Amino acid sequence: MNNIELPAEKEPEITSADEISLLVVILDTNPTQKMLRDKQNQLTNIVDSVVAFSNSHLMQKAQNKLAVMACHSKTSQFIYPGAKKPLDVRQVDGQYEAFLLVEKTVKQNLAELLGSESSTAVTESLLAGAIAMALCYIARLQRTKPPGSKLNSRILVVSGSGDSASQYMNYMNVFFTAQKLNVVLDVCALDQHLSLLQQGCDITGGMYLKVPQITALLQFLLWVFLPEPPIREKLVLPPPVKVDYRAACFCHRELIDIGFVCSVCLSIFCKFSPICTTCHMVFKIPGPLAVKPKKRKLKL
Ligand SMILES: [Zn+2]
Ligand SMILES: [Zn+2]
Repeated sequence: MNNIELPAEKEPEITSADEISLLVVILDTNPTQKMLRDKQNQLTNIVDSVVAFSNSHLMQKAQNKLAVMACHSKTSQFIYPGAKKPLDVRQVDGQYEAFLLVEKTVKQNLAELLGSESSTAVTESLLAGAIAMALCYIARLQRTKPPGSKLNSRILVVSGSGDSASQYMNYMNVFFTAQKLNVVLDVCALDQHLSLLQQGCDITGGMYLKVPQITALLQFLLWVFLPEPPIREKLVLPPPVKVDYRAACFCHRELIDIGFVCSVCLSIFCKFSPICTTCHMVFKIPGPLAVKPKKRKLKL
């Protein structure tokens, strides 16, 4: 009997043509951001830069995918692709229809969102919730992607808000979920340093940049955030800064350097409390340190 060796069945190789790069841009549109209140038309400038950047992502490869979200004080929603059926666009001034569609859809949906905002109460942007929504969207596309293709996803947060320690737990949950889903989180801070989101970049292997000049936003976006994460290693990008890994206490939601940690559920507190407010574990109140009786030297 001849022993014929059958060729081992190979896994279908994924070529670069089957790789889909998905970029989800989360734009903070909360009107209480300082830089938006200081200067009129600032939001228009930022939106223009973000649209140009998003179109550059689409331009790189025909398979590239894009989603844009607006993160507001009370809600976060997708402004591209919107909930409604896509707009009917025709070529204007020789601009490619797909780019025009992005621009028109983003601006129209954003105008609707801003117009529906009635209250002027000062609330912080719901960035953690927006990232969670983006992760759900990515997970859905991952399930429904064509067989044999590979989906590389990343999220870019563009925000001028300050740090909000009140969302500390939500942030940590989305960061570790993103890490598990292999989603890279990039953050572009426009006004203040965002130490919590910086931790997210560090956890997921993304880039963090605080833009030194907001007028040059598009340049910074194209330089730092347009290249895909595997290409970034080969580029000269801003050196990584030291990550501020402080945690927020669960009692006051303030960032602390040293605190008390519940040995059962790992909740963090800035002051000692005999009962953990998270898991209701009861601890002994630490008494004064016991003084050991000195050993007397035996005289011989
Ligand atoms: Zn506290
Ligand atoms: Zn506990």
